[in-house]
Amino acid sequence: MHRQDLLVPEDLIQKMAGLGLFGCSVPDSYGGTEMGYLTMCVLTEELSTVSLVAGSLITRSEILTRALLGGGTDEQRQYWLPKVASGELLVGVAVTEPDVGSDVASVTCRATPGEHEGRKGWFIDGPKAWSTFAGRANILALLARTETGSSLGNRGLSLFIVPKDPYDGHHFEHTQPEGGTITGSANPTPGYRGMHSFTLAIDRYFVPEENLVGGVDGLGKGFYLQMGGFEAGRLQTGARATGVSQASIEKACNYASDRKQFGQALADYQLTQHKIGRMATYAAAGRHLTYAAARAMERDERDSSAAALRTTPGSGTLAAAMCKLFASDVAIWVSQEAQLIHGGWGYSEEDPIARYVVDALVLPIFEGVKPILELKVIARALMAKR
Ligand SMILES: Cc1cc2nc3c(=O)[nH]c(=O)nc-3n(C[C@H](O)[C@H](O)[C@H](O)COP(=O)(O)OP(=O)(O)OC[C@H]3O[C@@H](n4cnc5c(N)ncnc54)[C@H](O)[C@@H]3O)c2cc1C
Repeated sequence: MHRQDLLVPEDLIQKMAGLGLFGCSVPDSYGGTEMGYLTMCVLTEELSTVSLVAGSLITRSEILTRALLGGGTDEQRQYWLPKVASGELLVGVAVTEPDVGSDVASVTCRATPGEHEGRKGWFIDGPKAWSTFAGRANILALLARTETGSSLGNRGLSLFIVPKDPYDGHHFEHTQPEGGTITGSANPTPGYRGMHSFTLAIDRYFVPEENLVGGVDGLGKGFYLQMGGFEAGRLQTGARATGVSQASIEKACNYASDRKQFGQALADYQLTQHKIGRMATYAAAGRHLTYAAARAMERDERDSSAAALRTTPGSGTLAAAMCKLFASDVAIWVSQEAQLIHGGWGYSEEDPIARYVVDALVLPIFEGVKPILELKVIARALMAKR
């Protein structure tokens, strides 16, 4: 999958669906397995020790689940969540645009109210970028501008569930019966392969009014719902990063035990032992920060009303950002140290350590690029309390 840049195999998706992994955070009453955030993190970590992509398959369903639980209508939860939980519908997230990244409030992709053959809905027009899995996905959680006044900023954005057909490969063009189109081209990447991240062009794509998350009450709330969703994504990324670190450490330990230079195994040199000791300690710190964030998010959900907790920076919000920030940095450092322990053989694409290194590099970028988490999520929330 990595070396040939192929889409993740369908049988892996179906096995994960059969285990209920797409419904980890979906309540039992909506057809989920309701395993909770902590269990979701442990599962994600284990999957990511084998493949970051395996650990990443559930990220998008986690993000949409949290947005629907936070601000969807009960009809929407009843309709969408069982299908997401069972893996019948796989999710892509379409927030970023070619000219809009960290400044999500500036999203330009438009949704204009209209009708198609007597059916009320919205026509979506505009570009999106880096939408991971958008080809294979059956639905896109898409953030669009429903009100255009420049002073509105994030209050002019709404979240839509956009159905489409699934496609394999690096390019697709989907034309809906209503005449709208979504065209996608995957951006080539050094790592994080297997799901493909697409640039999308969307042209007069019709979505019925019931696909506006939250219904009329959701108008203008898309930014907050999306940010709530990203919180689940950040928590999950803390676990993904920890899995990549763990895999790198185990690989380095095995290699250092087998490889002999100057008549001794690399593992016998104190420098190697010192490195492994530090790597394992940092990975453990990232793991426990992630577990603490999972517990904080579970506590927040027990203690607050579901609607309020998505929009206020509670402890779960901070902890999720912190675990993502820290564990991602650790994954980069640990995977590179582990690669060095492999010497030249670690640079061979035939060795998984080379994949861990390029996979880790993406972790500080999505769901809030590193400086944005530091400045605008963590520091801003802490300063605001003064
Ligand atoms: C492999 C991959 C998969 C992705 N998957 C998805 C997906 O599925 N869906 C989706 O919607 N998006 C996705 N993204 C997009 C990702 O979320 C964005 O790349 C990210 O939000 C950063 O946006 P940007 O790339 O436009 O960078 P920019 O926002 O242009 O930032 C560039 C640099 O400037 C810094 N910067 C920006 N503003 C400030 C500031 N105020 N103060 C200090 N520094 C600042 C940033 O921290 C960063 O270092 C993906 C990206 C990648 C690489």
